[in-house]
Amino acid sequence: MLERIVLVVLSLWALWALCNFLLMAGFAAFHEPISAQFDGFRVRLPAWLRTALTQRELDAFREHEEGHRAHWHTWKNYARVCLFLGLTPTERRRQEYEADDHCSDPAALASGIRKTSKHPFDLHRALRLETRCNVGPAGRRQPTTRYA
Ligand SMILES: [Zn+2]
Repeated sequence: MLERIVLVVLSLWALWALCNFLLMAGFAAFHEPISAQFDGFRVRLPAWLRTALTQRELDAFREHEEGHRAHWHTWKNYARVCLFLGLTPTERRRQEYEADDHCSDPAALASGIRKTSKHPFDLHRALRLETRCNVGPAGRRQPTTRYA
């Protein structure tokens, strides 16, 4: 009797995991991205982004998405969903910072973020990136602190 219950529970869990995988794969195959994203299989940049950003900013966005790939964020999130853990806002922010830190041109990424989003978290990310490379909004060099 116990074996049968375990088998039913494992089968239901496998079905749940399969449904989530099919949703993710279907989304990647058939859904046009609204913003830059790594969908678990490839980096995708929507057409509107290509007209809104410079080539340098586009390259920076691509590197950010490659950061999501390098850190396995999509697949880790998939595993969390399958284990009914979900993704906390703190974890989501940490993943964005990790992907930002993967970019070799933080000034271009910050500039692109400022052009494409006014969301407070995105503006915070832009400021964090500008602080890293010592430039302010619009790429202006900030005075450096000098110590006597
Ligand atoms: Zn991201």
